Amino acid sequence: MGQTARTTKLLLDLSTQDQGGTNPGKRSHLTATVIILDAARRFYLAFFLAHPDKLMERVEVISKKTGEVRAGVISADNLLTWAECQTVETADHPTPLPDWNFSRAFPDLPNRYRRSVIKDVIGKARGYLTSVTKWHASGKKKRKPGIPTASNHPTLYAGTFALELDELAVDLNVKQLAVITVRQHGMIKETRFVSDHGLDHHRFEHLKRVAKKQWQAGKAVKGEHSNQQLWAHVRRQNRDCAHQTARAIVEVCEKYPGCVLVFERLRKIKPSGGSKSRRLNRKQANQLRGKINQLAKEKAYTLGVVSVEVNPHGTSQYCARCGRLGVRFTYQAGQRVTDRGGRLFSCPSCHYECHADFNASVNVHHSFFREFHWQPRELKSG
Ligand SMILES: [Zn+2]
Repeated sequence: MGQTARTTKLLLDLSTQDQGGTNPGKRSHLTATVIILDAARRFYLAFFLAHPDKLMERVEVISKKTGEVRAGVISADNLLTWAECQTVETADHPTPLPDWNFSRAFPDLPNRYRRSVIKDVIGKARGYLTSVTKWHASGKKKRKPGIPTASNHPTLYAGTFALELDELAVDLNVKQLAVITVRQHGMIKETRFVSDHGLDHHRFEHLKRVAKKQWQAGKAVKGEHSNQQLWAHVRRQNRDCAHQTARAIVEVCEKYPGCVLVFERLRKIKPSGGSKSRRLNRKQANQLRGKINQLAKEKAYTLGVVSVEVNPHGTSQYCARCGRLGVRFTYQAGQRVTDRGGRLFSCPSCHYECHADFNASVNVHHSFFREFHWQPRELKSG
């Protein structure tokens, strides 16, 4: 089996052709390629999951080093040969399985793409079968492993790839869990706020109890978990909330077929300062954001929606209308108070005022299109 010797990554310029940008034909071909490869992956995933016995077949394996013979699971190379026999029309095998005729479904797909897709899927399908077997053996009723469509989805980074499509930008926050904005032809068409319904405060109250108990009991014993039920409750709530929020994001995706889902690359912030309970709560909030991000990408992927991560720098500080540095503020007793974490955003330049999270979400679009200060950085030579 040949292996790819070298990968060349091309950075596509997003500007128009007369400014040295990529020709639009190339972009549409790239989009089409991503879609076809995903479809091919889905085909073989379904094929292997329909043949679990073959996938986990025990065979005699002869060690190349020692010549020893032992029982082992069938090799990926042999599986690949077998799968091609069953699904691909060749001179030697003119009639593939009628329900699994890959040659008919994907005429002209280059052989090496097909092989890379098959190899990719073998690992995923096996991993899934193993975890399902373990899950059955454990006797649990809940949390059955999900079918592995979502892993290994193409996460494209800003600057790698540009699409002239509708896109959905999501800004993830603490109290306003997510702000989803839809932009089409440079205009914001739809906005949706997802509230946490008081989860952050609720969790904080629980964690205060955890912190107090830990303090009363002295130092936590290493390797021993205290407050297990409370923690389980906190985790369960976080998980449910992540699922709900991800579903809300994907519901918006569903309304715009062929859209792109844009996320900020999550910042790695270590909670510091404040009380023990506050730090514990911030940590849980960070995990929640990560979970929402991951679940939304997975759910979107099953709809054929590609996720993109963009540079998060400055999305909450700059004005989404004119691009200048703005300030955050709140109203306290009817008075405007400048506050770094304020709910509202104000631009001293163009006097635009809006909800700070909405402003940030619109800036995620600007970051995706590299508008305003999200310009590509000039490469330093030498
Ligand atoms: Zn402005």
